[in-house]
Amino acid sequence: MGLVLQLVETGADTQGRSIDLMEISRPRDLRDIANLGLTLPEAKQLLARVQQAVVAVQARDHAALRPACSHCRARCHLKDWQSRQVATLFGKITVRLPRFRCSGCGRVGAGIKWPAHCRSTPELDQLQAHLSALMTYRVAAGVLTHLLPVAAGTSHETLRGRTLKLGEQLRHAAAGTPEPAMVAAAPASAITLSLDSTFIRSCHEGERHLEVRVGNAETSKSGSRQVFGAVANAGTDIVALIRRTLDALGRTGDTALTAFTDGCSGLRAILAAAGVTGPPIADWFHLAMRLQHAKQVAEALPADTADQQQVKAEIVTEVERLRWRAWHGKAKNARITLKRLRTLLPTLKREPVRKLKRALRAIDRYLRSQSAWLVNYAERWRAGLRVGTSLTEGTANFLVNRRMAKSQQMRWSRCGADLLLQVRCAVYNGALGSDFGQLFEPASGSRLHWAEAA
Ligand SMILES: [Zn+2]
Repeated sequence: MGLVLQLVETGADTQGRSIDLMEISRPRDLRDIANLGLTLPEAKQLLARVQQAVVAVQARDHAALRPACSHCRARCHLKDWQSRQVATLFGKITVRLPRFRCSGCGRVGAGIKWPAHCRSTPELDQLQAHLSALMTYRVAAGVLTHLLPVAAGTSHETLRGRTLKLGEQLRHAAAGTPEPAMVAAAPASAITLSLDSTFIRSCHEGERHLEVRVGNAETSKSGSRQVFGAVANAGTDIVALIRRTLDALGRTGDTALTAFTDGCSGLRAILAAAGVTGPPIADWFHLAMRLQHAKQVAEALPADTADQQQVKAEIVTEVERLRWRAWHGKAKNARITLKRLRTLLPTLKREPVRKLKRALRAIDRYLRSQSAWLVNYAERWRAGLRVGTSLTEGTANFLVNRRMAKSQQMRWSRCGADLLLQVRCAVYNGALGSDFGQLFEPASGSRLHWAEAA
């Protein structure tokens, strides 16, 4: 079977000019499903040829223009031709562009508004950055060349360069004035904000880890959510980033802001600088996770004799009491329960007991460091208020760990990690103009049920 693909120009003055693009020959025999339709190499070739033909027609029409001089408005005449090579999503193309000379002042121009030294289309740049935000530079380069007739600039170094450049643009956007579209967000009556920090491996000498601050903000009613993140001391102003995020969600002077964090005082200072005036609350979920762990360990304690069974029952009850006291924000009473628990774990030296001791120590440390930020979570919960975001650690995981800490070999430069993070946030916030890669669902209630069960 043979087919010829033809491109026909439409319009009054074209006289139906046509170009034969390519001949497609596929087996007539469909007994083998592999014979069905176009193959990937054929499809890539087709795209590349359509692209070349379209660009050739565009270049011809462009050459027929006679622009007016931008300086003296006199008419320009054709001076000579220049060939430009440009990488596009559908192959590298060579475009022959005329240069014009002004008949008045003699200036030479090409009649295009392309950036200086531009060698690729913005669409290609953006897709390369977009894929790189989701997978390693090497894998992203592989995916691109596998699926598209991209010929030039497909090395992982190129993708890295494009991604960091886009990250730079996003960083500047965050520091500058908000875009008009952002200001137009519907006023939000309440916004919940969370801020946390995590670590990635550093490639700088004498430094093991880089601190990464991540967070998310959500409106209570519409459930719209934005994530943000920045590597500490990498040049991205996290305070400006938070302000911009709040503006994007419709923060006004009347918006009730609630912040959750249980990080260091540095994170609290960032929140205050970003305009969160009320004291942040320690996220219930961080505490609940530690309590849940202690409970599981207590329930798994061995109890062979009647005496042991009685002690174990008391321990389980005390751990439950500990949870109840923490849930009601009674940090002091919780510490009394911890003391009592310690007296219940006296002489047994078997591993599960040591494990429980470790779990209780972790809770004790947490309660000590967070005592000023604990609230009566039960009361908030009954009033229909948030007790935590439950998303902070999830945010850190999908924003940072999945791309930047999964592989032990990955080491990051401060700036490279920060700029990549800006692109990743933009992808998840849907700010790159496509839905591709967005993994957000509206605030899920599943983790909140966990709080209710507490
Ligand atoms: Zn002129």
